[in-house]
Amino acid sequence: MDFKIPEEVKEVVSSIEKFFEREIEPLKKTYHKQLNNGRYFYDENGLYSKQTMDAIRQVRLKSAEAGFFNMFADPELGGTGDEFGPVKMALIHEALYRKFGQDLLAQHIFPIGLFTDGLSPVLKGLKPEAKDEILPGVQSGETWLCFGLSEPDAGSDIWNLKTKAVKDGEHWVLNGTKQWISYAPYSHYAMIFAITDPELAQQRKGGITCFLVPFDEDTCVCDSAVSLLGELGGEVGIITLENARVHEKYIIGDLHQAYKTALDGINLGRLSVAANCVGTAQWALDKTIDYANERKTFGVSIGNHQAVQMMLADCALEIYAARNMVLHCAWKVENEKKSPLKELSMVKAHATEMTQSVLDRCMQIHGGMGLTNELGLEQVWRWAREQRIPDGTTEMQKRTIAKQLLKGDTSFS
Ligand SMILES: Cc1cc2nc3c(=O)[nH]c(=O)nc-3n(C[C@H](O)[C@H](O)[C@H](O)COP(=O)(O)OP(=O)(O)OC[C@H]3O[C@@H](n4cnc5c(N)ncnc54)[C@H](O)[C@@H]3O)c2cc1C
Repeated sequence: MDFKIPEEVKEVVSSIEKFFEREIEPLKKTYHKQLNNGRYFYDENGLYSKQTMDAIRQVRLKSAEAGFFNMFADPELGGTGDEFGPVKMALIHEALYRKFGQDLLAQHIFPIGLFTDGLSPVLKGLKPEAKDEILPGVQSGETWLCFGLSEPDAGSDIWNLKTKAVKDGEHWVLNGTKQWISYAPYSHYAMIFAITDPELAQQRKGGITCFLVPFDEDTCVCDSAVSLLGELGGEVGIITLENARVHEKYIIGDLHQAYKTALDGINLGRLSVAANCVGTAQWALDKTIDYANERKTFGVSIGNHQAVQMMLADCALEIYAARNMVLHCAWKVENEKKSPLKELSMVKAHATEMTQSVLDRCMQIHGGMGLTNELGLEQVWRWAREQRIPDGTTEMQKRTIAKQLLKGDTSFS
C-alpha cells in the first residue's frame, strides 16, 4: 500500500476548508445563538428551531452548489463518486473531522451527503420515473431523506421487522412503526423497508422490499424527535405508517430483495463512520496537546506529568492503529471484488470504541474545562458514545467478525 496522501485529496480538503471560511463562518456568526445553545438549537417540541433549520438548510444548498454534498455519490445518480474511491473518501472524511470536529458534530453542520440522507447508493434501485421526480431535489440538498429500517422489535435483529406492505392493484399499502430513524422529523421522503413476503422473511431468505414513501400528515408521519444523551431535542424520530398507499413505481430495487440493499448501504456507512471517528479523535488530541503545553500545575505545564503523558500516548497509539485499519479496509473495498465483511465490522467496532476512549482521556486531561460546553469536547464525547449503537452495535460487529473467522476467513491482509 502507498500511504502517501494523494495530491487530489489535499486539494479537495483545502477547497472544503476555503468553503468553510467563505460560507460557513458567516453562517456561524449569524446563527451563533442557536448553534451554541441547546435551548435555542431546538424548539419547545425538541425539533430544530426555525433558525437552526435555516442554517442547516443553507449549508446543504451551498455545499451542493459548490460540489461537495454529492462528491462521493454514484455518477448514475448525479454524483462525482467516480473521482473518489473508498481510500480517498476515507482520507477526506478523516481530514474534515480532524479540522472541523466540533462544527460537524456539535453544531450539526454537515457538508457531505450520507447513505441515509443525500444521494444514497440505495437510490440506484429507483425506477427511472421516480428518479426523475426526486433526484433533482436530493442533488440540490433541498430534499431530505431518511433510511427507515429499524423498528421497536427489529434493531440488531432485522429479520424481525413487523412493518408490512400488502399489494392492492398497482399500489402497496404499508402499515407499521419505524424507530430511531435519523433525520426522519425533517425529511420529505423515507426509504421504508417492509415485509412483502412473510414466509420468505420468516425463513430469513428474503421477503423484504424497500419503498420510497413521502411524508404526509396522515399516513406516513413523524412529528417529534427523540432526545438522546441529555440533548433538549434531536435528529432521530419514530415514523408511523398507517395505510400509506405507495405506487409500485416507488419500489426501490427488486421486490422481496431489499435485505441486501439495506446491508450494502449500511456497509458503506460503516467505513465513513470509522473514518469520521479517526478524524474526530485527532481533533480532540490536537486540542489536548495544545492544552497540555499551556496549562500549568505545580510550576510546570501538565504535559510534564507522566500520568498525562501516558494518556496522550494511549490516545496516539489507538488513533494510529484505527487509522491504519480504516485505510487498509478502504483499500480492500476499493481493490477486491467481494465486500470485506470482517474488516468493515472490525473498523466500525474498533474506531467507534477508540474515539470514545480518546475523547474521554482528552476530557480528563482538560480537567474541569473538559466538562464545559465551551470547548465542545463533551458534546463530541456524546456523539462518540452514540456511534457505538447505530449501523450495527459493537457486539453485532463482533458477531459478524467471529462468524467470518469460523467460516475460514482468517486472513489479515
Ligand atoms: C443515534 C441513532 C441513529 C440511528 N439511525 C438509524 C437510521 O437512520 N435508520 C435505521 O434504520 N436505524 C437507525 N438506528 C437504529 C440502530 O441501527 C439500532 O439502534 C441498532 O441496530 C441496535 O438496535 P436496538 O437499539 O434495537 O438494540 P437491540 O438490537 O435490542 O440490542 C440491545 C443490546 O443487545 C445486544 N445484542 C442484540 N443481539 C445480539 C446478539 N445476537 N449477540 C450479541 N449481542 C446482541 C446489542 O449489541 C445491544 O447491546 C439509529 C440508532 C441510533 C441510536
